[in-house]
Amino acid sequence: MNLTLDLHIHSALSPCGDNDMTPNNIVNMALLKGLDAIAVTDHNSAENVEAVMKLGFEKGIVVVPGMEVQSKEEVHLLCYFSDLDRALGFQQRVYDNLEGENNPDYFGDQLIMDEMDRVVGHNRRLLIGSTNLSVERIVDLVVREGGRVVPAHVDKKAYSIISNLGFIPPDLDIKSVEVSRPGNIAGLLQQYGQLKGYGIIHSSDAHRLGDILEREFFMEVEEKSIRGILAQL
Ligand SMILES: [Zn+2]
Ligand SMILES: [Zn+2]
Repeated sequence: MNLTLDLHIHSALSPCGDNDMTPNNIVNMALLKGLDAIAVTDHNSAENVEAVMKLGFEKGIVVVPGMEVQSKEEVHLLCYFSDLDRALGFQQRVYDNLEGENNPDYFGDQLIMDEMDRVVGHNRRLLIGSTNLSVERIVDLVVREGGRVVPAHVDKKAYSIISNLGFIPPDLDIKSVEVSRPGNIAGLLQQYGQLKGYGIIHSSDAHRLGDILEREFFMEVEEKSIRGILAQL
């Protein structure tokens, strides 16, 4: 079965995400665009995942619980889980390794919302910062929980595993990497032959509603479910 998806979307919880990236707006926009599955991956937090999952369940779109964690090497890693509890368990590990307080005037609001788009809280942590966790440690913790890690936007010059480490440590338990622009894939493969051994995922990294992908990235899965998608990551 072929699904069309966007597995990297920021909600209003991310300081850099628009405040109208609400659970309802994200799910409705994804439906409008004809996507089968999405993931909300806020910086170092998964506190809006529950609301988006509830709406996804109601409206018939698969929502993979996720988070974009920043390692101590300033590498962005997309972490995906089979269920909300595992995502929230991992979130606690992230919080235990995250210091500082957000300044909303400088970095932006970090809104926690319910499935009615009501603001039910403000996250005070410095979600835009680095955790004290290494790339290796993050992959280890996520995989141990049955989740999968996908290094984010490896074609970017900042916050990517390739820009910051220079290569992908070959013993990392990952199968796929993400690119922000499919047009960059050919050049990347030429420059980093190592990438030929990995699956390549394209997602939007949307911080604004209009940036959520159209039907442009497809994945062959055994079943239309979170598990079906995780099995391909
Ligand atoms: Zn990122
Ligand atoms: Zn992102």
